[in-house]
Amino acid sequence: MTELDAALQRLRDAGYKITGARRAVLNALHESGGHITSSDIVERVKAHDPSVGRASVFRTLELLTSLSIIRPTYGESRAPSYVLLTAEGHHAHLICSNCKLVIELDDCHADQLLLELEERYHFQMSGHLWEFYGICEACARSDN
Ligand SMILES: [Zn+2]
Ligand SMILES: [Zn+2]
Ligand SMILES: [Zn+2]
Repeated sequence: MTELDAALQRLRDAGYKITGARRAVLNALHESGGHITSSDIVERVKAHDPSVGRASVFRTLELLTSLSIIRPTYGESRAPSYVLLTAEGHHAHLICSNCKLVIELDDCHADQLLLELEERYHFQMSGHLWEFYGICEACARSDN
């Protein structure tokens, strides 16, 4: 199942209809590979379906965020960019503080930690987003 199919399924499971706007926003996120700002999403959605307005894109982003289907990520900028979580609710990456390189981590290593946190706080997890900051190999080399 692709991230896109998983996302559509989670919307249906939560009792929401797949409207044109919802499908268009999820498509934009999927096609971009993630890390796309809301204004870029608005542009992509408009190119596909001019009938979907800016306001409904923003409403859709809020809904998808509240359902843990997507997450805003901030990096070091003020405008969030959005990513689709996997079917398991996972997203993790390394970000180079110098050149802004983003290395996506597809494997999830959170299992043990999630169990511990669920147990300790009696908290039911629906997803997680990890951002690790540092300096990438190329930047580390050019600095020396
Ligand atoms: Zn990422
Ligand atoms: Zn770098
Ligand atoms: Zn994970």
